[in-house]
Amino acid sequence: MPYRLKKGVYAVRCRYPHCTFNTRLEVDTVIMGMTEEDVEAEAMKMAKGMAMVKHDSLHGRRHPLLNPEIRRVAGYNQPIPVSTGWADPIGVPQR
Ligand SMILES: [Zn+2]
Repeated sequence: MPYRLKKGVYAVRCRYPHCTFNTRLEVDTVIMGMTEEDVEAEAMKMAKGMAMVKHDSLHGRRHPLLNPEIRRVAGYNQPIPVSTGWADPIGVPQR
């Protein structure tokens, strides 16, 4: 069953020594996947991208955000009901 991320909030922390960057980001983009792991991986990528922009505006001249610690602090994966009839589910990425 496919899943989509609902109200995902991610905490991202920079691992660079003495860097104070530690932020929470709301991933409000629609993220869907065929498994919960897919959704999680995609959401992590999204959170990392957003964090990089934010980090670079603050600390980018000193060091890049290379290997941040990312974890979910809120949100859940909502199962998307798949119709077994004639119609394909709308908006579910086919892989
Ligand atoms: Zn940093």
